[in-house]
Amino acid sequence: MLRRIFIFCYLYVIILALFIGLKPFIGIAQTGEAQIGATQPDASPTSAYREEVKTSDQKPVQDDQTTRIPPYEIKGTSQQLSKKNIQSIAEWKQQVQTFSDQYGNTVYINGQTGEKMVALTFDDGPDGQVTPAILDILKSYGGHASFFFTGQNVKTFPAIVRRAYQEGNLVLNHSYSHPNFDNKKPEFIKDEINKTGQLIETLTGKIPALVRPPYGIVNENIIKIAKDQNFKLIIWSTDTFDWSHKDADHIANNVLQNIRPGEIVLMHSNGDKTQTQKALPKIIEGLHAKGYKIVTLDYLLHVKAYKN
Ligand SMILES: [Zn+2]
Repeated sequence: MLRRIFIFCYLYVIILALFIGLKPFIGIAQTGEAQIGATQPDASPTSAYREEVKTSDQKPVQDDQTTRIPPYEIKGTSQQLSKKNIQSIAEWKQQVQTFSDQYGNTVYINGQTGEKMVALTFDDGPDGQVTPAILDILKSYGGHASFFFTGQNVKTFPAIVRRAYQEGNLVLNHSYSHPNFDNKKPEFIKDEINKTGQLIETLTGKIPALVRPPYGIVNENIIKIAKDQNFKLIIWSTDTFDWSHKDADHIANNVLQNIRPGEIVLMHSNGDKTQTQKALPKIIEGLHAKGYKIVTLDYLLHVKAYKN
């Protein structure tokens, strides 16, 4: 009997010692897993370019709502806006910031990071000239962007869609016909998004899980659809106003003077955006000079770019 008690105590002590001994290692393993993709070492320009080859193969990490910082104030100026424009943009900013604050895992204005990284996004393409020129510039710098294409333009320029995807950029959903979703029925909104998703899938094999509603308009209807259909709504934290103040220096300054960690920059790549095309090399070089890495949205936001 005594011998059994002795053996039992002996085993207990060994198990206890093993557990205490292994605990720090278990801890390291867990922390390491949680930090994958979260930290990037500062590196030489060559490897900084390589850092930019971060696309959808990154393992997504879900946002932790408890550690969220409030959405950024949306920056960018234009000297070409009417008083009415200025007023309606101010109202829209307030509205979209409230939605992002309330539905932080559905409506994104910026990335939750202290690291110097930025996502360049281009709306309203593709077209036959500006989008290919932007793809050439991105390729020459080894950078990648996130494109929100409309279904109509995807249909007209399928080869450009394939090229954008094959070169490592994200091909995402900007509705079919670019309507204002305010006061539209849910069925209409769903149809605009699903039709475009299917068109993109036939060309790339991927259904976008990131949607930019036309004009950045967010309302309860589209938020509910996004939650039900499991996609995210991507707004922006800097508007270059390349749709209003079409001047390459002004466009570049809107980015470089406002840049913050986690910035999402709005630009356009449809036919009349030649000044955007002209501004892009200045923007990329300026961002690199400030120590910023250019990354795609899925990497910046720790979300999936595609549903499949
Ligand atoms: Zn648009």
